[in-house]
Amino acid sequence: MGMNIEVQTSQETELVDITQRVKETVGGAGIRNGLCVVYTPHTTTGIIINENEARLREDILSALDKVVPKGAGYQHDQIDHNAHSHLRAILLGPSAIIPIENGSLALGTWQSIFLVELDGPRKRTVHVSVR
Ligand code: ZN
Repeated sequence: MGMNIEVQTSQETELVDITQRVKETVGGAGIRNGLCVVYTPHTTTGIIINENEARLREDILSALDKVVPKGAGYQHDQIDHNAHSHLRAILLGPSAIIPIENGSLALGTWQSIFLVELDGPRKRTVHVSVR
C-alpha cells in the first residue's frame, strides 16, 4: 500500500523530520514484516536518515553548502539559478528503504527520517510505500 505525505517547507534549505508521519503510515498498513520505501519525486529535495539534533541539522546543511556552493559557475544557473539545489539532491538521493520488523520500522534509537529541502520554501510530496 502507498500513501503521500504533504510537506510545506519554510526555508530555502531545511531538514524536515517526517519520522512520525512515516510511522503512522506503516502502522496503518497492517504489515508485520516487509519494507518501507520513502521516496521524494522532486529534483531539488533528498531523503536522509540521521540523528535529529539541532546543531547536527545545521552541520548537515552547511556541509552541503561547502561541498556544492551556490553560484559556482554552473551551466543550469543560466536557466533557473538552482544548479546547486539539483547537485545537492543528487548527493543525498531521492529515497530510503527501512525494514519493517514486527509491525514497526527497524530504525535505530538515534535515527530519524528527513525530507531535505534544497530549493524552498515550497510545497512537497513524499511517497511512502509499504510492502
Ligand atoms: Zn533547476
